[in-house]
Amino acid sequence: MDMKETYITKEEAERITESYPTPFYLYDEEGIRENARRLKQAFSWNPGFREYFAVKATPNPEILRILREEGCGTDCSSLAELEMSEACGFRGQEIMFSSNDTPLSEYRFAEKLGAIINLDDFSNIEELRETLGGFPETLCLRYNPGGYFKIANTIMDNPQDAKFGMTEEQILEGFRILKAGGVKHFGIHAFLASNTVSNEYYPTLARQLFTLAVRVKEDCGIRLSFINLSGGVGIAYRPEEKPNDILAIGEGVHRVYDEILGKNGLSDVRIFTELGRFMLAPYGALITRVIHFKETYKHYAGVDACAANLMRPAVYGAYHHITVLGKEKEEGTESYDVVGSLCENNDKFAVDRRLPRLEKGDLLFIHDAGAHGFAMGYNYNGKLWCAELLKKRDGSVKLIRRAETPRDYFATLDIDPDMKRYMDSHSL
Ligand SMILES: *Cc1c(COP(=O)(O)O)cnc(C)c1O
Repeated sequence: MDMKETYITKEEAERITESYPTPFYLYDEEGIRENARRLKQAFSWNPGFREYFAVKATPNPEILRILREEGCGTDCSSLAELEMSEACGFRGQEIMFSSNDTPLSEYRFAEKLGAIINLDDFSNIEELRETLGGFPETLCLRYNPGGYFKIANTIMDNPQDAKFGMTEEQILEGFRILKAGGVKHFGIHAFLASNTVSNEYYPTLARQLFTLAVRVKEDCGIRLSFINLSGGVGIAYRPEEKPNDILAIGEGVHRVYDEILGKNGLSDVRIFTELGRFMLAPYGALITRVIHFKETYKHYAGVDACAANLMRPAVYGAYHHITVLGKEKEEGTESYDVVGSLCENNDKFAVDRRLPRLEKGDLLFIHDAGAHGFAMGYNYNGKLWCAELLKKRDGSVKLIRRAETPRDYFATLDIDPDMKRYMDSHSL
């Protein structure tokens, strides 16, 4: 009996493969919208709340437009992400630019869009002033408290080793410089732990940022306009894990808000989030077909996707649950390494995974691949990027990114006469 639900049946998946061969990503519009609404509800106590979706998690215009309709902005950290946001209709302060090690030209572009610029490093302050010939009216500084980030004595992450953000002293000095330089609206931002499966992450982070906001008020005479809790709220990749309860998380932040900001006369601060994984991961799956079996010292099931389509298992040893479509009710009686075709031994979607007996042609639904999935793809071994599809609310399926073709793959080699001739004569 499979422990995780899919949003597609075997019959539906087979029908889709008649138009779009495997492998492909399939996203679930209904799930994306419902989740975005729950997040909004969780923070509805804060009138200025806004989620800035981290574009890097799922950079697809159709996804961005859905989130835009649900009231989200975008969080970008590169020129291409800013451009995609602009193309999808995001304007001005609907865009957050949270980058680091930033090329100056990207600051200029972000400013032209009217995006909120979030500075990662103290040296960026003068750099920005010189680049833009002055400061924008609104600016945000990224905080790194150092030390270990702990929740109930559990170390969640290690900010002192993270390349991001400024020390508290740098933040306070930075705000004095910004104020003297004419900045009118100020924010702070911090991202301290990734994929947290704990309702305590945001409230604990919020306590640190709210306390800093009080210091900023006392030391610099600045009332912050917004506090950006950034990303890091995780999802339950494993079926036995208890997922985050976003309503409890919102309530937890609310309590700390009243306790610290409310008591210090700062109860008009807007709360922003910059979630990626939480917004999309459960609502995207990689669909792939079993094409091969191999028996040596282990049982291998070969599929037509590979780590170039979804690298998280190969790189982080990340668990992605696998459902065999049409065999949801069967027991996991067999044990397989589910592998792709890269010439790399880490190209395994699962190791010693209990699954129902597989047959050639079975379709696998690799769960929770909707964020940091397609986006982290690559072309190693000449593997082409696969298509992305969207299951719409009416049940129909829409192609939202076509699969890459050999012509795409060879496009930057059209300066090579042999390749050019080959592409033309083979109508690639
Ligand atoms: C990656 C990233 C996010 C999103 O992180 P998730 O873990 O996907 O929620 C948000 N903000 C910044 C600056 C990031 O780099």
